[in-house]
Amino acid sequence: VQGAVKHFRIRAEGGRPGGLLRAVDGVSLRLDAGETLGVVGESGCGKSTLARLIVGLLPPDAGTVSLRGGDIWAPGTAGRERRRQSQMVFQNPAGSMNPRRTVGASVAEPLVARGVRSARADAEVERMLPLVGLNPKMASRMPHEMSGGQQQRASIARALIARPALVVHDEAVASLDISLQAQILNLLVELQETLGTSYVFISHDLAAVQAISHRVIVMYLGEIVETAPARTFAEQPLHPYAVALRNSTLMPDPALERSRSRIVLRGDVPSPMNPPSGCRFRTRCPQAMARCAEEAPRLADAGGGHLVACHLAPVAVVPRREPEAVPC
Ligand code: SF4
Ligand code: MG
Repeated sequence: VQGAVKHFRIRAEGGRPGGLLRAVDGVSLRLDAGETLGVVGESGCGKSTLARLIVGLLPPDAGTVSLRGGDIWAPGTAGRERRRQSQMVFQNPAGSMNPRRTVGASVAEPLVARGVRSARADAEVERMLPLVGLNPKMASRMPHEMSGGQQQRASIARALIARPALVVHDEAVASLDISLQAQILNLLVELQETLGTSYVFISHDLAAVQAISHRVIVMYLGEIVETAPARTFAEQPLHPYAVALRNSTLMPDPALERSRSRIVLRGDVPSPMNPPSGCRFRTRCPQAMARCAEEAPRLADAGGGHLVACHLAPVAVVPRREPEAVPC
């Protein structure tokens, strides 16, 4: 994703002013094959819009989204084929399954859309269901005959059945109880090892994101404020927003609990229709200075692939390398 922008024009209605909602405002990111990228932030930070941009459910207003080396919005079949290479798993498993079709028919959908004949699609469903821990006999059931956890497993089976390069999970475990969440996360990790699929894992739940991701991105009001390898991020988030998010997550380790700094998240995310000038986090940042209102911080390298957009963040001094002598 390179410089992606997505704004929505909102009409004034019933006393509410209209305007431009800046859902995603210049986001760049990269995901390697077989890698999981976690995206965290409160609701209203643009995570779901970013998800829709990545899988091609929405075209960007500016910037590009590419998959396997090409623009997913390239004209004709080239773009369409690339958009088919990604799938999305939504938060609400019940709402994402057609209530009037059998589970098997829903799971087979991506194959049927590609013109696979129904006998072969059925055979694929039978192979796919055990991979997500469901009995193949469940193919003949209706969605309402399954539990929430089973429905979510079925939606994962549907997302993976055509072997996409990328699956975006938008709050995919948020509606499940905690033991089921753990089961589904473990399942996703196993499937990634078997199938080599890349994941974007979007959640407001920092603990879940850290458990499953290789790299983490923190979004605030349509922008990326921090990105780091998951371990680095777990040990030392640098952006005051990321630190505050971590402080609002329960940590099982008392030593970690004591080591927390005092940054606490107060108030709500301001409206994405009217983001604060300069640093968008400044209205909630306990460390905001005069400079923060005037100048928007850019993402700067703190070393080891750790990028932070904050005027206070330590920036690694990259040693300048002398040009190497080229043997003639
Ligand atoms: Fe806080 Fe300023 Fe850093 Fe923004 S740039 S996070 S307001 S200290
Ligand atoms: Mg969302």
